[in-house]
Amino acid sequence: MKNPRHLILNDIGELGAIERICRLLPHSGGKIVCSTGDDCAVVRTEPNAKYDLVLTSDAVIEDTHFTSQASPSAIGHKAMARVLSDIAAMGAKPEWALIDLVAPGKMRLQALDKIYAGATRIANRHGLSIVGGDTASGRNLQLHVFAAGTVSRGRAVLRSGATQGDLIFVTGSLGGSSLGKHLHFTPRVKEGLFLNKWATSMIDISDGPASDLRHLITMSKKGALIETTKIPVSMEARMMDDGTTALDHALYDGEDFELLFTVRKDMAVKFLAAWRKNFSLRCTEIGQITPEKGVVRIIDNNRTARHLKKTGYQHFER
Ligand SMILES: [Mg+2]
Repeated sequence: MKNPRHLILNDIGELGAIERICRLLPHSGGKIVCSTGDDCAVVRTEPNAKYDLVLTSDAVIEDTHFTSQASPSAIGHKAMARVLSDIAAMGAKPEWALIDLVAPGKMRLQALDKIYAGATRIANRHGLSIVGGDTASGRNLQLHVFAAGTVSRGRAVLRSGATQGDLIFVTGSLGGSSLGKHLHFTPRVKEGLFLNKWATSMIDISDGPASDLRHLITMSKKGALIETTKIPVSMEARMMDDGTTALDHALYDGEDFELLFTVRKDMAVKFLAAWRKNFSLRCTEIGQITPEKGVVRIIDNNRTARHLKKTGYQHFER
């Protein structure tokens, strides 16, 4: 057992780090509707406010989230699209963003212009205004984005709202995002706004559905049963050809930035009909919420159930 004074981030992993930080922060009360533990924090400026604000921030770092091969406009796109995806996961409308740029002084101005062009293009497409930020010199390129959105008071879709029997859905297809989707994905903002009316809980898939579904059921104090044959495995996941099965790519890769959400079972038929009327994007039911707190089980082709233990991507791991 290591002396606690010698513990480092790698000893506790990203989730351990988040837990440790959360213990130091206020959770609710006053003007805070919901702070840590969701895709965005939800705050209310006054008790009778018509809207709640949702707040999120995200860092995109060279050699962690992109390599030096990535195009500057794709880096700008990714940084902005990630916060848009978090706002989408609350069923909220994106409003404002700030970007902090950390970059080495030798970076070309042309690259700088392209980063902001990429960020602005995707922001404009979703009605998000970039209203400022900061710049600092650093050894490698980093974009830190803070964004705010609005949602009718009390209507933010939280991770904690799933109830037993709700059906679990995902948008789009999953896996193999490292082949390109992680830099060029479309944040599901329109879909998130539509889902505000239907979803009992929601999260965006950043760490992989295995891991993100676990976050959702943990916050909902429930369990989940998913069926492997229903998982919408992407073409890219099938193309990876690296010894990992396409299904495992779909479950564990992450950075799909699709939405994973639950809908009441008795509303599911109506919901899917409404979805198809509004979107051509695929929406797939993959399983359902169970009462077994914290347990995710998965049924494969031969109908044997096993516990889904492996989780997706985590920062601070050896
Ligand atoms: Mg998220």
